[in-house]
Amino acid sequence: MIPPRASSLPGTVYLVGSGPGDPELMTLKAARLVREADVIVYDHLGAENVLDLARPEAEKIYAGKEASNHALPQEEINVLLVRLAKEGKRVVRLKGGDPFIFGRGGEEIETLAEHGVPFEVVPGVTAASGCGSYAGIPLTHRDHSQICVFATGHLKDGSVNLDWKALARPNQTVVFYMGIGGADEICRQLMENGLPADHPAAVVQHGTSRRQRVLTATLGTLAAEIDKSDIRPPALIIIGTVVTLQSRLAWFKPNAS
Ligand code: SAH
Repeated sequence: MIPPRASSLPGTVYLVGSGPGDPELMTLKAARLVREADVIVYDHLGAENVLDLARPEAEKIYAGKEASNHALPQEEINVLLVRLAKEGKRVVRLKGGDPFIFGRGGEEIETLAEHGVPFEVVPGVTAASGCGSYAGIPLTHRDHSQICVFATGHLKDGSVNLDWKALARPNQTVVFYMGIGGADEICRQLMENGLPADHPAAVVQHGTSRRQRVLTATLGTLAAEIDKSDIRPPALIIIGTVVTLQSRLAWFKPNAS
């Protein structure tokens, strides 16, 4: 086993993935860096449990990012990280899930690289892995799915511009991040491009946490089911016949104490 470093370097930014919700899904490295940080810049719900690990004197800066309600514009976050590191601080930039999967991690460290600020990236359990596991939906399975694709369902200009033909292929699992608002269009496009209306689909809201909800449906019914059950972000859409395994493999009881 590689022994953990005794302490992290000052004047460095650590882009740290904190996992999808359950704090025990953080890596040992992430937990150590949070404990050692001088400043933690965070922006996601569910960060509270992680922040409890920080030293009481550590500064905690909320950079907010709930949907379109940005507390700090991305450009300001980038500049803030540079400034804090140049002050000699050990900065943890906390990201939900994995920083390099729909986390804008690449954009933030590009600015650091431009300014010669040392940085490290700590991967985390991404929402797809966390939600799949805790919902009882294996993302791949020899009988069902040999390909797993992560896509964004976020509609920048009101439409999703994706290769729908490729996403509608059989024997694959497609996971949509940020897809709740666009569920209607996602399902419609997949059906228009060849998948049947009874193709299985699921939504996992607040995956891996005590608030987890799992809803299974089909492409034909998913959008209506989402509306009916008032599912809101953060939620993930999983599409593929692997969803049929959920009724047998679900093990996580969010409400059990
Ligand atoms: N970097 C993150 C993803 C950030 S994008 C990661 O690797 O997981 C934000 C989207 O991730 C949300 O809109 C939602 O689709 C998904 N997400 C994040 N956490 C989630 C959770 N606990 N349950 C369900 N979906 C989640």
